[in-house]
Amino acid sequence: MTSTTTTDPGPLDSDPFQPGSERFLAGPDAGFATRAIRIGHQRTPENEHSEPVFATSSFVFSSAAEAAARFAGDVPGNIYSRFTNPTVRAFEERLASLEGGDCCVATASGMAAILAVCMGLLKQGDRIVSSRSVFGSTTMLFNKYLARFGIETCFVSLSDPDAWEAAIDDRTRMLFCETPSNPLTEMGDLARLAEIAHRHDCLLVVDNCFCTPALQRPLDLGADIVVHSATKYLDGQGRCVGGAVVGDRKRVGEEVFGVLRTAGPTMSPFNAWVFLKGLETLELRMLAHSERALRLAEWLLEQSAVERVYYPGLADHPQHGLVGPQQRTGGGIVSFDVRGGKQAAWDLIDATRLISITANLGDVKTTITHPATTTHGRLKPEERAASGIGDGLIRVAVGLENIEDIQADLASGLAGL
Ligand SMILES: *Cc1c(COP(=O)(O)O)cnc(C)c1O
Repeated sequence: MTSTTTTDPGPLDSDPFQPGSERFLAGPDAGFATRAIRIGHQRTPENEHSEPVFATSSFVFSSAAEAAARFAGDVPGNIYSRFTNPTVRAFEERLASLEGGDCCVATASGMAAILAVCMGLLKQGDRIVSSRSVFGSTTMLFNKYLARFGIETCFVSLSDPDAWEAAIDDRTRMLFCETPSNPLTEMGDLARLAEIAHRHDCLLVVDNCFCTPALQRPLDLGADIVVHSATKYLDGQGRCVGGAVVGDRKRVGEEVFGVLRTAGPTMSPFNAWVFLKGLETLELRMLAHSERALRLAEWLLEQSAVERVYYPGLADHPQHGLVGPQQRTGGGIVSFDVRGGKQAAWDLIDATRLISITANLGDVKTTITHPATTTHGRLKPEERAASGIGDGLIRVAVGLENIEDIQADLASGLAGL
């Protein structure tokens, strides 16, 4: 297979599985849940019902001439799984449909998705304007690694559109955000940010990991590209690491796909299969996570050891007005400050018996973290303070257990504070 590692097989457009092909068992006008269950699987001659895992690194040609034609891009078809794989394509088509994009490419992780977007769409001398409240590794990627290749990033407040506009200069090519933010659940107005981006000839890239398309569709609001860490809610049960980029055929299907097939951080077929199964229950899960999170947030408000609760679904959340028009429900993440700072926060975490002390989120199992000493531990204390991440802050990614059991698990620790 050495030749596949050096030959360019043409853009993703040469892939055989285009919308409209027989692999689409549900039309694009079908409802969200139907598409989440039905789109993307082309039944093989074995007539399997569940999507098969194509655990193969390469694909066979019937003749030397066919091999040559596929490599030349004259005949569509699979060549090598770093380029295309049917199980991965099924996941890509399903997620593209759910996000309302023309094209999706799957990646080895959420960070690989963000890296591939930057490598595919930016060049030396370009600038990014990014929300300050993005995933820690995203900040590191922008500040430490992209900076080495001459791409600079300026960080602004997610919820202040004027700050975004003021930060844009004539070298700025990309605006980047996550909404709601982690861990403080601050929200950005995506329609506003898209309008600002396009007025300045920039792309708006949105990390839609926390809401998923079941709750929020950034492309409908004007964003150009959506990135995902499929590791979180798309999987939904904490099994696999993966990611995805969704957008138009030119930028995603050619530029981003080109980076992936050349540089190699593609998704494994097995992981794609797990994510396909995850998408089938995505909407049900997101609504159930949200319902439990709202009940937990309301309950936390009544606890005397709790100083403040951060949840978009609460009426006093500063951007509560965006719940509904922009994001269907409050989502599954609730954060809160306890009185007594770090020691109290650690004592509360250590008092839990059911909730998992782990960094992942978007799992059916509820997880708890202390951002100041874990996900945001590498920030300087003054940077943390500027971001509003106090020593008493706790983040709960609410799972799908009975909410009474989650409340009881936290109640014993809160009583001891
Ligand atoms: C986890 C996460 C990422 C990174 O995804 P990986 O799959 O861990 O690489 C990016 N953005 C957000 C918002 C995340 O929560």
